[in-house]
Amino acid sequence: MGRKCVVPTCSTEQGPNSTTPQVHRFPSPASSSDQLKLWIQAVFQQSTDLSHFEGKIRNGGVCSSHFLPNDYRNWNDGLNPLFHKLGRLKPNVFPSQNLSRNS
Ligand SMILES: [Zn+2]
Repeated sequence: MGRKCVVPTCSTEQGPNSTTPQVHRFPSPASSSDQLKLWIQAVFQQSTDLSHFEGKIRNGGVCSSHFLPNDYRNWNDGLNPLFHKLGRLKPNVFPSQNLSRNS
């Protein structure tokens, strides 16, 4: 079983090959708690305590369709990070694309 994207309107699951979008792990609660909060606010549209989302954070992730190409380190290398398994996010980015809105 691959890791699944936890964005409510999305059903991406990490596949076995590089033609499927990459599902990124959440930042570590231990070493990047501030960054993790930004991800949770972006994905779930609310800022409740982290423990409420613990299971999703541990077992799921956020897929590449919720990030901008410029959020990836290797964008300038000519790769297509949206469908490249080795695409690595820059340290200070958080999901900003294709997220559900209640407005
Ligand atoms: Zn997704």
